[in-house]
Amino acid sequence: MDCMWCDRIDAEQTTKDCYWILPDGKDAVEILEIPAIYCQDCGSYLTDEMNHDIDMALYSRELPKGKKELTYKELMSAPYKNIFATKNV
Ligand SMILES: [Zn+2]
Repeated sequence: MDCMWCDRIDAEQTTKDCYWILPDGKDAVEILEIPAIYCQDCGSYLTDEMNHDIDMALYSRELPKGKKELTYKELMSAPYKNIFATKNV
């Protein structure tokens, strides 16, 4: 596949573990096995789209309480928060 950062066309699909600051800014979780790209020149990285997806998922989904790490799959299959309850400040 094409690297998004340079001209190489031999970038590969990989996975990456990343720490992520939660939307409240107080806590962080480690997200495991995030689909990522590996390029021999640029190293492994997440696409902007993937960054955005994870930001949105952390914001809108109910995470397992007290868990410091979860896989990308667990995050994406977590139930949505009750938006109406959280928007009433
Ligand atoms: Zn590259």
